[in-house]
Amino acid sequence: MREELLRLNNLCVDYRVKDGYLSAVKDVSFSIEKGEIFAIVGESGCGKSTIAHSILRLLPDHNEVIKGNIIFNGENLNQYSDKQMEAVRGKKIGMIFQNPLDSLNPVYTTGKQVAEGIMLDKVTREEAWKRVVNLYNDVKMPDAERRANSFPHELSGGMRQRVMIAMMLARTPQLLIADEPTTALDVTIEAQILNIIKSLRDEHNTSVMLITHNFGLVAEVADKVAVMYAGEVAEQGTVFDIFDNPKHPYTKLLMKALPRKTKKEGRLQTIEGSVPRLTGVKRGCRFENRCPYSMDICRTENPPKINVTDSHFFNCHLEKGGE
Ligand code: ATP
Ligand code: SF4
Repeated sequence: MREELLRLNNLCVDYRVKDGYLSAVKDVSFSIEKGEIFAIVGESGCGKSTIAHSILRLLPDHNEVIKGNIIFNGENLNQYSDKQMEAVRGKKIGMIFQNPLDSLNPVYTTGKQVAEGIMLDKVTREEAWKRVVNLYNDVKMPDAERRANSFPHELSGGMRQRVMIAMMLARTPQLLIADEPTTALDVTIEAQILNIIKSLRDEHNTSVMLITHNFGLVAEVADKVAVMYAGEVAEQGTVFDIFDNPKHPYTKLLMKALPRKTKKEGRLQTIEGSVPRLTGVKRGCRFENRCPYSMDICRTENPPKINVTDSHFFNCHLEKGGE
């Protein structure tokens, strides 16, 4: 039976900036079920990382205003104290980033850093070390024991990402947030990392929120997709809905601009025009200045949500979407 793990209800995040407020995320709602891989895809600056950091309460906490609810396992994370959130981070929701070097301490061996996480669960040092080596084997780290004794700078980018995944696996979270996890890696290593993420879902029923600007990746691993534009969800559906029957003019343009051969070419291509400045945003559609179908109403009224099927919707004034 399908069971919901995470739900965002009308999440809005505004950053206080010099000339007012920048609306980085506006009215974003979606849910992720247990064992589901949910991709958030969009160009740089569309708010993907802001959503991830809001869920884990990792925003810089000096210039943002957050509204809306984040429901995890039926509980509202907004009502959690900072101490309760500490227990959620890592243990219940794990996160891996694009650049693992930023998250690893250069002065400790990688194995020691993974073991520390395991020992939080009151495990002895020896037992923790055994588990580290097993985990390194699980993430297909070549020469596991030796790598556990290596410092971060002694490992390649792909090996460091394996360390991050091992660190996260050590605590078997229910949700893994992977923020551009393979952007810095070559195609072969990327495929291996994706396989590890998929087997994590298959073996532990872990849910995955995959943040990416690479449609090729989405096609390979995701079950559902939210296409974001300028802080809003433009369209959402299953991977088949989005690839076989895109409706929103933005998704359509992205699909058209998507060459098919290699992974590198699966990255989003630039489409004409630029994202509007998100400060003092008025009503209307944020895609209006780039949309080939733009009408007067698009400049003055927020686009309505149009349901295509139970699993598929888009936000647009064109009832049938772009042709
Ligand atoms: P990328 O793919 O480049 O990481 P993204 O889709 O993850 O981009 P965010 O990093 O969430 O996008 O940024 C969304 C918007 O919020 C951008 O316009 C960005 O410039 C702005 N922004 C992000 N962090 C802050 C901050 N601390 N203060 C002010 N503006 C911010
Ligand atoms: Fe284009 Fe208007 Fe639809 Fe926005 S609401 S995507 S401007 S047609």
